[in-house]
Amino acid sequence: MSLRRFARATMGALAFFSAAVAAGLAARHGPQAAELTGPRAGRIEAGDVARGAGELTGVAAEMEASGEAAPLDARRGSDVRRKLDHDSRGTYIDEVLRGRDSSLARWPDRSARPLTVWVQTPASLPGWQDGFANRARDAFGQWELSGVPLRFTFVADSASADVHLTWVDRFDEPISGKTLWARDDRWWIVSADIVLALHHRDGSPLDQSAMHAIALHEVGHLVGLDHTRDGSNIMAPRVRVRELSAADRATARLLYSVPPGRVR
Ligand SMILES: [Zn+2]
Repeated sequence: MSLRRFARATMGALAFFSAAVAAGLAARHGPQAAELTGPRAGRIEAGDVARGAGELTGVAAEMEASGEAAPLDARRGSDVRRKLDHDSRGTYIDEVLRGRDSSLARWPDRSARPLTVWVQTPASLPGWQDGFANRARDAFGQWELSGVPLRFTFVADSASADVHLTWVDRFDEPISGKTLWARDDRWWIVSADIVLALHHRDGSPLDQSAMHAIALHEVGHLVGLDHTRDGSNIMAPRVRVRELSAADRATARLLYSVPPGRVR
């Protein structure tokens, strides 16, 4: 199977307010080159978790290296477009389409054959907390509960896993999470990996709430979602919530109700 090279990158920042009630997240996005080669070529998504309202400002920028979508045939494409238009209420599928040049990528139905996920537990990394692994696993579980035809099962063998989630101490860039996925010519996602940081670039540690939030955001990208400007959703560029919204779940379900590819 030949894979189209499709590199795209964003950087983001998730910012916490110290006030407990107003605690929120914001993702800051900036340009980040991500030309990839080989069969792992795919999309990179990155986000950062930081403390302080000063991290709330930023701009989004993305780069696509290549990756013209394989078009659905004309009639099928218009049928898909019609369905998306008809069922778009309560979703941000239009924003996902705009962000992807009217193309959608998703996994095949994996409800009967769960995606295998290997979650690293790097006890030797400074700042590691045993609870982080469960917070990350819960992020997969939350998306599973959204109603998409995906199931995740956690495996001990990294070599055979479909999805790998690993940690690093910190990134050199002002980010604390990345998702890389690859798709085939028909825009079926075929693999995906997530990397999360234990510390912000400035060295301050992420807490478990931050880890859960950025994991939810990154698993959303792994599922195939893109950003929405509505800050009430986990997939907002400036995420101000810590759980999936109804629109997050509805958009994911709508994505999985149509075949992938270009729909206009
Ligand atoms: Zn993102």
